[in-house]
Amino acid sequence: MIEHFKNYINGEWVDSVSSEAFENINPSDIEEVLGLFPRSGKEDVDNAVAAAKNASNNWKNISPPERGCIVSEAARILASRKKELAEIISLENGKTVSGGLGEVQSGIDMANFIAGEGRRMYGYTTHSGLKRRFAMTKRYPIGIVGVILPFNFPMALTSWRVFPSLICGNTVVLKSEENSPETTVYFTKILEESGLPKGVLNLVHGFGPEAGEALTLHPDVSMVTFTGSSATGKLVARNCVSRHAKVSLELGGKNAVLVMEDADSDLAVDGIVCGAFSVSGQRCTATGRVIVHKAVYDEFLKKVIALTSKQKVGPANDDTAVVTPLINKKQLDRVLGYIERAKKEGASIILGGEQLKGEVFDKGYYVAPTIINNVTPDMEIAREEVFGPVLSVLKATSYEEACQIHNASPYGLSASLFTKDVNRSFSFFDDVEAGVCYINAPTFGSEPHMPFGGVKQSGQGYREVGWAAIETYSEVKTLYVDYSSGIQNVQFVNEK
Ligand code: NAD
Repeated sequence: MIEHFKNYINGEWVDSVSSEAFENINPSDIEEVLGLFPRSGKEDVDNAVAAAKNASNNWKNISPPERGCIVSEAARILASRKKELAEIISLENGKTVSGGLGEVQSGIDMANFIAGEGRRMYGYTTHSGLKRRFAMTKRYPIGIVGVILPFNFPMALTSWRVFPSLICGNTVVLKSEENSPETTVYFTKILEESGLPKGVLNLVHGFGPEAGEALTLHPDVSMVTFTGSSATGKLVARNCVSRHAKVSLELGGKNAVLVMEDADSDLAVDGIVCGAFSVSGQRCTATGRVIVHKAVYDEFLKKVIALTSKQKVGPANDDTAVVTPLINKKQLDRVLGYIERAKKEGASIILGGEQLKGEVFDKGYYVAPTIINNVTPDMEIAREEVFGPVLSVLKATSYEEACQIHNASPYGLSASLFTKDVNRSFSFFDDVEAGVCYINAPTFGSEPHMPFGGVKQSGQGYREVGWAAIETYSEVKTLYVDYSSGIQNVQFVNEK
């Protein structure tokens, strides 16, 4: 019997108004339907937003430390059910249970960090230019936050967006991603159990152009936080800007590792292979490019091919698998399309390059870990995000040229440099166009207490996560108290 899941609106589990449903498919066994989910549209979003609006006054008047207690309780429950939730993530998202456990831990870490922010949420006090006047700032909620997420990290990203929204006193309408909706049901149930008042978090399932777009266009939604592709982000931003709503965008990346002539090449190869191929490259911070100094290019290539060839490809229920299935057929076609076009542009496929067939592979969509050589910076494969297990290798004659090649991409999410030169390490932070930079580490590994976000087509200026999330999810009010008992005018402060 296939379970029929529901939306969560105003503290009630309800069907979509149309009663239409869509299937949630297991990427490791595409014949298996994991559940049916409401195919929501504008009316469902209207109901969810109305519930969030109704709950807003009460929620914003609960003090941030008290809100923090609810988030702390959610962290406690998450920790107690870690394995159960990791199994759901693994089943619907196609990553291993270990990968799912990592995601849940990331949610717990975020909840613990953000619960503490409820006791900080600092403003400024400063001197006024006038005598006997007090100047300060204080943070207030924005209102209703619409949360739209991608498929690849359903637990981590839901926690990273919803907990900060709540601690700042906003109410939330969360639209789950259509390939990983069950994780958000579990997440919502935990917040319900943690004592979150009804209407504060509402969950609506459905497709992007239907439920997602309705959320971005709703006049009562004061902010949308969107994580997904740069193309969809543009549509979301346009809808929000057209009605003066705040919009935070966390978008795609074409992340690169630079390997210099003095690098520890084994360490670099380890970091690159795991950055490029784990979860089949379906990370925003996956390593899509490696830019190698010509002096170590041939040796590097041999080592990277050798290690990549050892990466196990397999379904989510094989915890030893590194390269797990792609999420769906659309993603498979997209990845194979990029590989074909790279060949036509003159690049050479030196490993992989094809869909894997036979046995477990016929039950899902797998692409062999692929390495592409003879790539030049102007080729599509060097510029566009593939979101699959594909690594492009480019050659540079110097550190300066490697940075130029890096910056030729329209994206700027994360970047990494392998070197033993301390001066070059710090120069890299100045020279490279990316929101997150690493030295001697893979292009992923962001922590919940640190800001995260990209430049160029990877974002639009806001930072999520860490203390930056408090700035993103709150409004600052500037407050003056004049205790001079006179009417003072700041413009005349310097006049006699
Ligand atoms: P996507 O853009 O296809 O979809 C993301 C979300 O947008 C989904 O929930 C979808 O339903 C919704 N959507 C689609 N059309 C919409 C519309 N017209 N209006 C409103 N919502 C709409 O992305 P995806 O394939 O799910 O995820 C992969 C992308 O996400 C990659 O580009 C990846 O780099 C990016 N990503 C970025 C980060 C980050 O923090 N920067 C993190 C994870 C993933």
